[in-house]
Amino acid sequence: MNASSLVAEVRSGQRTARQVLEEHLARIASQDIELGAFNLVLTDEARSQADAVDAAIASGEPAGPLAGVPVALKDNLCTRGIPTTCSSRMLQHWRPPYDATVVQRLRAAGAVIVGKTNLDEFAMGSSTENSAFGPTRNPHDLSRVPGGSSGGSAAAVAAGFSPLALGSDTGGSIRQPAALCGVVGLKPTYGRVSRYGLVAFASSLDQIGPIAANVTDAATCFEVISGHDPRDSTSLESAAESVTAGLQHGVEGLRVGLLAELCGESVRVKQAGLQSVGLSGIAPDVISQLDQAADVLEAAGATVSVVSVPSVVLGLSAYYLIAPAEASSNLARYDGVRYGLRVDAANAAEMNIESRTAGFGAEVKRRIMLGTYALSAGYYDAYYGKALRVRTLMLREFTNAYADVDLLLCPTTPTTAFELGAKTADPLLMYLNDVCTIPSNLTGHPAVSVPFGVGDDGLPVGVQLMGPALSEPVLLRTAAVLEDAAAAAQAAL
Ligand code: GLN
Repeated sequence: MNASSLVAEVRSGQRTARQVLEEHLARIASQDIELGAFNLVLTDEARSQADAVDAAIASGEPAGPLAGVPVALKDNLCTRGIPTTCSSRMLQHWRPPYDATVVQRLRAAGAVIVGKTNLDEFAMGSSTENSAFGPTRNPHDLSRVPGGSSGGSAAAVAAGFSPLALGSDTGGSIRQPAALCGVVGLKPTYGRVSRYGLVAFASSLDQIGPIAANVTDAATCFEVISGHDPRDSTSLESAAESVTAGLQHGVEGLRVGLLAELCGESVRVKQAGLQSVGLSGIAPDVISQLDQAADVLEAAGATVSVVSVPSVVLGLSAYYLIAPAEASSNLARYDGVRYGLRVDAANAAEMNIESRTAGFGAEVKRRIMLGTYALSAGYYDAYYGKALRVRTLMLREFTNAYADVDLLLCPTTPTTAFELGAKTADPLLMYLNDVCTIPSNLTGHPAVSVPFGVGDDGLPVGVQLMGPALSEPVLLRTAAVLEDAAAAAQAAL
């Protein structure tokens, strides 16, 4: 059941928050052994939160917009006194002394935190196979990955463990797993959701956002968690415009651009004679869904054109310098002294080395080394400096594109969910998963992935809508049109 129906039932007294919670806990208890979505289920804490929601409603207090809704949190979001591991041995026993702002806001809205979900260690990965505690599986097919790094959150929503979850997105980690698990994922504009209490990966790219079973729930959750926070110096001052109010207003008159470089095989891109500018490797079954999505938007009154943003093909290379560079700096704090794991040794330097060697997994070490190299004297200008220039170029080109169209349409991922183990031996192959999602992180712009039909293998396909800064209302109401069309097509089968 979706979050908005649950809230209506809990508010009207049809069901208690406790009953709703028990149902979800039972489902988790019977099915999560197979999926591995949760690192930790907060049974006792959730029960007392649900009871508090019920008591407040019984005493006539106003019920929040998420009253009684079970929410799962990616395990890189700080929860006071509750383990926050980042799926790393380094933080396995660490309990933060404070709650992330998003956690405080969820609780204040009446949400019930059910647990902490699995992720690629420190959010580095695209399949949730980099977790120190074992992988999460895709609820649609247990032999496939759920995507990553917020794979536990996406799998939890897809499996009905909680109607809502939070993820973090540095290069696609909300949208890519949402696409592979057939749920909705929103990466908000940088600065719209406070990062206070999100364990940092790459601070100029990281953003927290909702993963939900439908667009309305994603919008409601976004409204709850967004807004200025003085505890995040990059938090935007602007008052948040409502995204739920206009959700059913449709797309009449909207200008949609099909992003040529990421849709080379699309019928429309070929007709425009632009297929040669594109990246290869986007699967034909994904492109075919994308063409259908463009048709749906056109039929609903939008104009669809083909738009070229040449620098988009450079995004992956720039990201895999900038993100590791920032990560190498952010992860320097895990020194065996201040947080988490310590392996004792003869002196401080050796203790530091031993602790980091034992605490970090292979991918995290790879990123730290890549990032340290890219930042080192003599290489800084050639690598990190150049990547920053690409980032500026991309921002300029996207800003120009948004002078002509209101939003851009492209796939979320090159393929549907792949088999566990299929890409673990080749990091570059894994990185290529992020080619469509990375651009919005580099520009700081928002983007949403919405499920739209299935691929040849019967697994979910996600369509991505990208827009300029603060365009969440337009993105979500466009996503709602695609969601309705996908539901109608499904019902007609
Ligand atoms: N898959 C990308 C990476 O490995 C993005 C991760 C993320 O968004 N947290 O860096």
